[in-house]
Amino acid sequence: MTAKRMDSAAVFTLRIRIALGGVCIFLASLFIAGALTIPFLFESPSILYKFGIEKTFLRSGKVLGVTAAALVCFQVLLVSRLKFLDRIFSLNRIVTFHRMNGIAIAFLALVHPILIIAADNFTIFPFVKRYWPEFLGLGVLIFSLVITATANWRLMFNFAYDKWLRFHRLGTLVAIALMIIHILFVSETFKSDHPRTLVFVSAGIILMLISRLWYRRFFPGKRRFVVSNVKPAGKDAYSVDVRPHGGQILDHIPGQFAFITPVSANVPKEEHPFTISSTPSRPDALQFVIRSLGDWTSKINRLKTGETMFIDGPYGLFSHMVSSENEHIIMIAGGIGITPMLSMLRYMADVDDPRRILLIWSNKTKEHIVFPEEFRNLKHRLQNFHIIHVITRASGDENEIGRLDQTRLETLLKGWRRKSNVFICCPFEMMKEMTRAVKKIGFSSARVYKEEFKL
Ligand SMILES: Cc1cc2nc3c(=O)[nH]c(=O)nc-3n(C[C@H](O)[C@H](O)[C@H](O)COP(=O)(O)OP(=O)(O)OC[C@H]3O[C@@H](n4cnc5c(N)ncnc54)[C@H](O)[C@@H]3O)c2cc1C
Repeated sequence: MTAKRMDSAAVFTLRIRIALGGVCIFLASLFIAGALTIPFLFESPSILYKFGIEKTFLRSGKVLGVTAAALVCFQVLLVSRLKFLDRIFSLNRIVTFHRMNGIAIAFLALVHPILIIAADNFTIFPFVKRYWPEFLGLGVLIFSLVITATANWRLMFNFAYDKWLRFHRLGTLVAIALMIIHILFVSETFKSDHPRTLVFVSAGIILMLISRLWYRRFFPGKRRFVVSNVKPAGKDAYSVDVRPHGGQILDHIPGQFAFITPVSANVPKEEHPFTISSTPSRPDALQFVIRSLGDWTSKINRLKTGETMFIDGPYGLFSHMVSSENEHIIMIAGGIGITPMLSMLRYMADVDDPRRILLIWSNKTKEHIVFPEEFRNLKHRLQNFHIIHVITRASGDENEIGRLDQTRLETLLKGWRRKSNVFICCPFEMMKEMTRAVKKIGFSSARVYKEEFKL
């Protein structure tokens, strides 16, 4: 079988990403700046009767409220899985923006009513009918704080991921709808033409983005695949192969990931992200290597050949094809963090990549190494490929027989060019230690690429 070579146009170069990223950030800033002008250009009568510090409090409170509402529009955009944004920023980074933006919204929403009541000497509105938009706003604020707290400290609330995700999606939808009603009725400002139109246009865009997400969930169309093989791949790990159901295979680059949703008699129909460990140079099937680490992944071995799988992707920019061309490659993987490296190595072997490549792979025991035979073969297929295994526990007992730290890494990386591209994919603590170590050893931060298996 002849290997398919990827077209380099499939990825944006770093320069194009920086330019397009700059344009996106500029447009977002313009939108926020436009929203900020509203309390100045369309003053409500309540501001006209205030003077001095009270006026400043009232106006600042309104400005913060409008800014929080403008940021809510981005919140939805950021989780809309727009391919264009993924190709510029990568979905993992976008989800991090989403989390930070959520915290900013909660903070602004909290300070906004405090400043507004400060303008009236902290006199609380009487609990009467005419102040219903204010009390609705208070409800939205409390609900938003709950949504933000459970999103950032989910484990403290003992919230299982799938239940939390359902609560988060539905809760956000309700909070946004109530927030729009609050904005439209709380102030005279939003009774004037332009601000009101802006609210309706923004609400329309939010509704379109949410409908698109729901539509994609319920009408998978070309994203329907069929499970063609499920087999063990090392301790507690299984490989799952899928083939397209009539449609086309995903056009991905090595190292990217996708969201998979099985429709199976034995595995819950939940959506989970996994790296596509197969190579795009062999486009007849996709493979995922899944380690059973939790509730859902421990059932993956129950998947049966012939069952349906919906696949949404590809996403992410963790790939040697996105980094600077022709530089040496150093890969540091922890456990199942090998999957993006596996896809890249398979691709590089298929296209006879002549680069020097070093893989340092840490596993708990030898039994945790997935596809050991294939990695031995890769050493023969790739002329300049070196692999170093680090085993942290001896099989059978818990004696530590090796650990990756800065000193060990420094020894292993002797003779490797400091401008090599470094790819790191491993659990959080190891990621922190490895990133710090490679930078201290002298590798350039701009050439260190990281992927954490967490969104
Ligand atoms: C980009 C990316 C690539 C990944 N690639 C691989 C891979 O190749 N092989 C592999 O074995 N694992 C991979 N993972 C990890 C895998 O997605 C999780 O281990 C799996 O979703 C855990 O599900 P669980 O219910 O079994 O575990 P749980 O114990 O319920 O969850 C463990 C953690 O996984 C995350 N998680 C759980 N459910 C979801 C979900 N539905 N969507 C998103 N995150 C969730 C949460 O942070 C949670 O705290 C990848 C993750 C990401 C983000």
